[in-house]
Amino acid sequence: MKILVINCGSSSLKYQLINMENEELMAKGLVERIGIEGSRVKHETIGKEKKVIEGKLNDHGEALKIVLDSLVDEEYGAIASLDEIGAVGHRVVHGGEDFAESVIIDDKVMDAINRNIDLAPLHNPPNIIGIEACKKILPNVKQVAVFDTAFHQTMPALNYIYALPYEEYENHKIRRYGFHGTSHKYITDRAASMLGKSVDEVNLITCHLGNGSSITAVKGGKSYDTSMGLTPLEGLPMGTRTGNMDPAIVGFIMDKDGLSIEEVNNLINKQSGVLGISGVSSDFRDIEEAAEKGNERAQLALDIFENSVRKFIGSYLTEFDSLDEVDGIVFTAGLGENSKSTRANIINGLSAFGVKIDDEANDMRGEEKIVSAEDSTIRVFVIPTNEELMIARDTLELVK
Ligand code: AMP
Repeated sequence: MKILVINCGSSSLKYQLINMENEELMAKGLVERIGIEGSRVKHETIGKEKKVIEGKLNDHGEALKIVLDSLVDEEYGAIASLDEIGAVGHRVVHGGEDFAESVIIDDKVMDAINRNIDLAPLHNPPNIIGIEACKKILPNVKQVAVFDTAFHQTMPALNYIYALPYEEYENHKIRRYGFHGTSHKYITDRAASMLGKSVDEVNLITCHLGNGSSITAVKGGKSYDTSMGLTPLEGLPMGTRTGNMDPAIVGFIMDKDGLSIEEVNNLINKQSGVLGISGVSSDFRDIEEAAEKGNERAQLALDIFENSVRKFIGSYLTEFDSLDEVDGIVFTAGLGENSKSTRANIINGLSAFGVKIDDEANDMRGEEKIVSAEDSTIRVFVIPTNEELMIARDTLELVK
């Protein structure tokens, strides 16, 4: 079966067509600037020349139409007819407490995704628009929702209840949800397979370090604790997000700088993190380059990020009974997969736990590999993530 994976942002639509006979990618692409001047589709069928299509796209429905046309195009397409698409898997950011796993989308599911808009006002609406557009254009094809939060629904209350009046949880469902669940789950499955263990036997600390970053303690193959919270703002400092800080700072800044809630939300989500500290960029490559040239604030941003990752790993190690129980620390996503210096700096700072990197093994980008030294107490893995494949696998499992 061929499965179309869709990931809709507010003005973007990413897609992949995957042949599940062999889990091979057939085509992929990105639609940008939907509803804004300068809309653009970048389409690539594997083994064929890339195609860029420009022209105003007013909404996600129009974007999806072009994507489907591209997939069946005689010259640069991947399939002969849309009938070949067996199912569509949608990334949905927030499933709240309603979804602990992926589901086939029906009216009840749509109601629940809509109810969770409150928890993810920026993310769930475009996801819903994407699903609606697909239902309209492919009415006979089953649609599946795969939630970023679902993997973390196994966390115990110990790790998801905030120290607020309990009524805030009861009345408004304010709790830790966690995100990047599809990625943490994918690398957990892969690590288990690399270790020759079944997934429910594996204990890991998984580090998804990209533009957005989160760390998860995985016990028995299940999420036990994770660094992101009610929203993807909590935890590590990120490209533009603060991560953890004293919550009183929000009110303080609003008072001092005369900012509204919307303005302060923008500041902590879009202007902070390593961009805010360095003043250089939100992109770690730019920051590494600036630091190499002697920019002290760029170096400070990297130091703060790496120290924060180390502190999370250290604190998550305390959630296991002994170091022997921990099968691995796993790095993934843009930075985790590609930046050997980030990995080395993080692991070298964990010497108190006897974790050691093998510099030679670590001297690579984007490979699935064990990069720890022989005598390291805990193995260190690099596993390139593949959220789209995970979405396609869940979709196949549900529709088959
Ligand atoms: P992601 O959100 O997973 O796409 O990750 C994007 C982040 O990974 C960006 O900040 C990139 O700068 C960073 N990244 C990608 N490749 C490298 C690399 N070779 N070295 C350092 N950072 C990288």
